[in-house]
Amino acid sequence: MDTRLATENRWLRARLEALIETARETEDKLNRLADLEFRLLQAGDLSHLLRLLLQDLKRDFELDHVGLVLCDTTGDLQAALEGHPLGEGWPLRLIPDPAPLQGLHTPVLGPAGNGHTTVLLPEEMEGLASHALLPLGRGDPPRGILLLGSHGAERYTPDQDTFLLRRLAAIVSVCLENALAHWRLREMGVTDPLTGVRNRRFFDQRLQDEIGRMDREGHALACLFIDIDHFKRVNDRHGHAAGDRVIAAVAQRLARHLRRFDLLARYGGEEFVILLPALDDSELQSIAERMRHTVAATPVPVEDHRAIQVTVSIGGARLPPGGQGQAPEARARILLGSADHALLRAKETGRNRVEMAAEGLYRQEAGPTPPVPAGAIPPSSEMNP
Ligand code: GH3
Ligand code: MG
Ligand code: MG
Repeated sequence: MDTRLATENRWLRARLEALIETARETEDKLNRLADLEFRLLQAGDLSHLLRLLLQDLKRDFELDHVGLVLCDTTGDLQAALEGHPLGEGWPLRLIPDPAPLQGLHTPVLGPAGNGHTTVLLPEEMEGLASHALLPLGRGDPPRGILLLGSHGAERYTPDQDTFLLRRLAAIVSVCLENALAHWRLREMGVTDPLTGVRNRRFFDQRLQDEIGRMDREGHALACLFIDIDHFKRVNDRHGHAAGDRVIAAVAQRLARHLRRFDLLARYGGEEFVILLPALDDSELQSIAERMRHTVAATPVPVEDHRAIQVTVSIGGARLPPGGQGQAPEARARILLGSADHALLRAKETGRNRVEMAAEGLYRQEAGPTPPVPAGAIPPSSEMNP
């Protein structure tokens, strides 16, 4: 009798210890999940959020794979991640059309490599034995899916409770929407709505950054001022709406000649400004000529099958490397003032022309105004349209 009780006692004790261990593991998992969710909610931007999802989640929960498929019909996600060094090589797939996600409105747990995953994430399935596919967003099709994968067949099984996974997916989905909304808001503040190019506020910020960069990297920095010729006539003859179309078309045509790191901005009205790092004089001259030619080559189509012939005048200036003796603000003023002055010359000498400022301006003392000859600085309306 005693022996039987002792055996039963031992068995109960072992069972209790196993239950306590499971409870401890669950508590630990909950804590790690709460911690991750907190970090997700605090994530500053989209790339930070993705890093948390694709790196931290994998590490903290000892997963063999974490992947993400997101529907990007507007192209905003692509744009938000553009140029981000971590964006490349991430297990992140952006799809333009949500159709492949149709039917994935509840979590799917079980053996890896069934229907949806083999279509959406064929490479990710390699070596995985089980996975959880978590829909992001409430609709069908959902906004995306989060894939958690394991080499262990028991990690995800169809009979598991999905409460915590659903909670994680809901938080991820809200955080993604928030990060994207933030990005859109920021973009709106620095983008010109008519042309889609950067606005003057963004340009002014970047100009200072670019001067800092030119000092660090030892390259030149050039600037082009571009003004549409006789634009008042366009408005007068064809109307304001057609004028708007012309401004937008000119921006598009100028943008064709930009390198990845050049910056085109609408400076105001029918004036544009472009920053071009690391060019020599002849390269600058030939890019400016190509821009001028592209604008003039084809009339801009507007409503009622009309097309408007437009030309631009371009003024350019270039700060060669090595002007560190002068304050960045002073050099920024010199660069803009010189390019604007060259633009005025292009206007005065017939329009549809490119004029370049004389070299060496950067060596002059920078006063409160750009060091161009007295009276040669265009009126402030030209600089600040
Ligand atoms: P110039 O060759 O000397 O540059 O002649 P211009 O007629 O282009 O001269 P100016 O710079 O004085 O005129 C610019 C005109 O651009 C005046 C303004 O009504 C018009 N404008 C400014 N912003 C916009 C805009 O957003 N849309 C339209 N349609 N017109 C604009
Ligand atoms: Mg103007
Ligand atoms: Mg003009």
